[in-house]
Amino acid sequence: MLRFDRMSSRSTRAAHEAFPPFRIDPRDVRSEAVRCAVCGEDRPRSYRPGMYSVAGVPFHLVRCPCGMVYVNPRPDGPTLGRMYSDPAYYTEGYNLGVETENYFDRRDELVQQYTETARALSAELGGTGELLELGSAGGFFLEGAKRAGFRVRGVELSAPAADFSRRELGLDVYEGWLEHAPWPDGTFDVAYADNVLEHTTDPLGTLAKLRALLKPGGHLVVIVPSYVNSPWFRALLLAQRVLPRKLLGEELVRILKLDPAKDSGHPYHILEFDRATLTRLVRAAGFEVVSVEGSVPLPAHLFKVARPDLKTRVLRGVFRALDAGMRWRVLPAARLRFLLRRA
Ligand SMILES: [Zn+2]
Repeated sequence: MLRFDRMSSRSTRAAHEAFPPFRIDPRDVRSEAVRCAVCGEDRPRSYRPGMYSVAGVPFHLVRCPCGMVYVNPRPDGPTLGRMYSDPAYYTEGYNLGVETENYFDRRDELVQQYTETARALSAELGGTGELLELGSAGGFFLEGAKRAGFRVRGVELSAPAADFSRRELGLDVYEGWLEHAPWPDGTFDVAYADNVLEHTTDPLGTLAKLRALLKPGGHLVVIVPSYVNSPWFRALLLAQRVLPRKLLGEELVRILKLDPAKDSGHPYHILEFDRATLTRLVRAAGFEVVSVEGSVPLPAHLFKVARPDLKTRVLRGVFRALDAGMRWRVLPAARLRFLLRRA
């Protein structure tokens, strides 16, 4: 049976010190029906009932004939606001559920990793410049980009996260919604949105605002998870009807999001893009697609072990093989990275 280690109690304590204890009252959970954010149609078909819940109130995934998958009805604005005040967002719910450690505890490791990411981005674009990150969280990517030579600014909705990035890293981060951010149009050379667009209530408006903030010819990087709207997820949903769950193991069932009844988290991902639906949306927002790359998120804890046992080595091999297959487009992607240019 495959097992992934639980988050350490030290991380749990650190998270609870950073954020006060939090509970959402079921009476405060409200929802609203929405149309497809990509094509505007209102013809949802059931996709994954009860995928998420907030204070015991279930939320369902539906699929539009255009291929888009989304939460409908979804939590309304104030309910979403309450969800993002929950400390669990930066612990259990972060990074697609594949990580076992609290985001803030991984500061040094993430800054180092993002410095490499930003250096590669600079090489890809042929230089650095003014960079904006949408959803800058604790500021670790911005810090990495700064070290790689970019001049950086961020937008972050979460007050504790924005505060952390200003206090601990001295970064210029605007706390609030992108549309209220203080910068004039045409300010930035690069905008970066890593695991953000799937959280937004108006993705087309968000992309249009990012486009306006870019200089003509400026670039936007959009990274989204695409596993839940992929043949992987659909095949696993079918397979688990006939395969005994013991074969996968509890932790893998959790990571693969196959048992909503038992372990359903908050609907942070209200949108689930795939290659076709995101391509359609970014073009509608006035971007041209420079490149699209598929990949799978590699669980960091698997690759940090100095002397891996056989099981860990096998899992590393599986993840590396999946990642290679997705980069070569032999396999459907679990994560997509779009490099876009302001048309
Ligand atoms: Zn649609």
